[in-house]
Amino acid sequence: MEEKQVLLDVKNLRTSFFTDSGEVKSVNDVSFHVNKREVVAIVGESGSGKSVTQLSIMQLIQSPPGKILGGEVWFRGENLLTFDQKKMRTVRGNGISMVFQEPMTSLNPVITVGNQLTEVLRVHHKGMTKKEAWERGIKALEAVGIPDPEARMKNYPFEMSGGMRQRVLIAIAVACSSELIIADEPTTALDVTTQAQVMELLMSLVQENGTSLIVVTHNLGLVTRYADRIYVMYAGRIVESGTAETIMKHPRHPYTLGLMESVPRLDSEKGEQLIPIQGTPPNLADIPEHCSFYDRCKYACEECLNKPHPPLREVEEGHCIACHLDVRGGREHA
Ligand code: SF4
Repeated sequence: MEEKQVLLDVKNLRTSFFTDSGEVKSVNDVSFHVNKREVVAIVGESGSGKSVTQLSIMQLIQSPPGKILGGEVWFRGENLLTFDQKKMRTVRGNGISMVFQEPMTSLNPVITVGNQLTEVLRVHHKGMTKKEAWERGIKALEAVGIPDPEARMKNYPFEMSGGMRQRVLIAIAVACSSELIIADEPTTALDVTTQAQVMELLMSLVQENGTSLIVVTHNLGLVTRYADRIYVMYAGRIVESGTAETIMKHPRHPYTLGLMESVPRLDSEKGEQLIPIQGTPPNLADIPEHCSFYDRCKYACEECLNKPHPPLREVEEGHCIACHLDVRGGREHA
């Protein structure tokens, strides 16, 4: 069996925002890794810290009010958190690319797609002529399935559909030969058919180019089909991690169980009722000492209130949960 090589190793990452209401602990001691050619999903509700984690990795946190307070981000044998912005620019695009939810904010509206593509290419490939970059840009658009790529190079972003613009961003990542693509809610703004197409496109990059992929999403149902491994985040922490198959078939953290019941999945029975998780996440400026899911957890007991927030522990090989109990499909094993 081929040995897995770690491409990205995030250790004990902590990022806070210092606001008038106090310190908002958005990322609270988060550790995870991505292997080469692997698809990892980071799943959680809005405000769970999943996007801030990725922005911290890229050093794209707006400071102030944001600040990375600690941790390590190892990529290609170097800790990115020791890099200054100039050195980080060589990593962004060239090593790691980010594809955002709304491509309109990432693409410059007054520059044609072709000029944006060639500009990025020439920054990352020193000595490349304009003509060479233009031709490579056409190939990149072709690779992401954009019809008539030569004509599309002359379009402005507003002349394209949302799905097409998302493909352009992925084309930029392809053109830069990024080793890792971080796709933050890549399909949220798209219709269902285009969602599937964009996910299939990202998957083909993993298979054909050997790229690794992090998909950040609130939609557990979407990623169980595509991801190798899943990390579930809640209130700035990882509360469950494991292979996609394990998380899908044997979730053991009450929050993950709640997520599974609240979203439609590919294996959902027709007419199966969706049950939303009651309540709201805690205020990240005032996180309780005890388990942060306590107020919403149907399995909560006295032990959960009296003990500090549970650390992640391995319950079976490669499967971790941050819970004092071990809840398996509704049966408790304390
Ligand atoms: Fe629920 Fe207790 Fe587990 Fe927290 S520690 S998720 S409150 S059972």
